[in-house]
Amino acid sequence: MKSFRCLLSFLLLALTALPAFAAESEELVVYSARKEHLIKPLFDAYTKETGVKITYATDKAGPLLQRLKSEGANTKADLLITVDAGNLWHAAAEGLLQPLDSKVLTANVPAELRDPEGRWFGLSKRCRTIVYSTDRVNPAELSTYEALGDEKWKGRLLLRTSKKVYNQSLVAMLMAEHGEQATEEVVKSWVANLAAAPFSNDTKTMEAILAGQGDVAVVNTYYFGRLQKKNPDVKLALFWPNQKTGGVHVNVSGAGVVKASKNKAAAAKFLEWLSSEKAQNLFADSNLEYPVNPKVKPHDQVAAWGDFKGNDINLAKAGELQAAAIKLMDRAGYR
Ligand code: FE
Repeated sequence: MKSFRCLLSFLLLALTALPAFAAESEELVVYSARKEHLIKPLFDAYTKETGVKITYATDKAGPLLQRLKSEGANTKADLLITVDAGNLWHAAAEGLLQPLDSKVLTANVPAELRDPEGRWFGLSKRCRTIVYSTDRVNPAELSTYEALGDEKWKGRLLLRTSKKVYNQSLVAMLMAEHGEQATEEVVKSWVANLAAAPFSNDTKTMEAILAGQGDVAVVNTYYFGRLQKKNPDVKLALFWPNQKTGGVHVNVSGAGVVKASKNKAAAAKFLEWLSSEKAQNLFADSNLEYPVNPKVKPHDQVAAWGDFKGNDINLAKAGELQAAAIKLMDRAGYR
């Protein structure tokens, strides 16, 4: 009798423990266009904290979206992480993401950095700003993105190719602010000031300033951060433009829950965690980006670049206007 009661209580215990065990063995699958070394530490930290295992595949944004589309309802993916609002917008527009109604995400992610319909959320800010030669430029000469088309920058401006989504998003956001015609005039004035053909990446663009090919350029701050980390005395500095007007162009890396996910609740929980105070530095600092959560301070090296006002037009515009921005840059002769 005693052993029977023992067995019974053991069975009861096992039954009540079951749901907890099931939660602990939860698994999530993430597709990420953010590189492995930037996301792996986050996955490990989340697994350590919650027991949720995370498996992942990394690739460029285009192939990942293609893969999600072809896998359709059979996909194993629960969460998509990618860079640039243009890419997030496309994923949502293709119907690959599902809306979340989360108080946590709404509180942690500023409204302009997430989809108005809740299908994607920015998780780190990537600011595309002006960089200049500290040898040949007085920052007092600088003011706005638009003013890089002024006569004084003739033969001194360097840009990255218009094929890169970062520049497509920048121009799309200028269009959202100024309209198509005015933006086309701005882009034409940039092209007229170019000191060299556009470069394939931001680092090469800055190296060209250092080589004396030009004096000013537009880059994402984390590329400047990498150069500065290698050489603290690098003869370049960042400038925050448009402080009296629309603000600095702020893009994001971010994520959304895959529409066909079979683990929506767990995926949403993980996404909420990524926006939390404890995860935000892990997400932003490894690439010298800015946390989206206003309660979280950036890495010291990043904070030293100073405070600025960011543009507050919703980033969904970067996606909505992307096709028109590409056409506009083509008409303006920006290659
Ligand atoms: Fe980048």
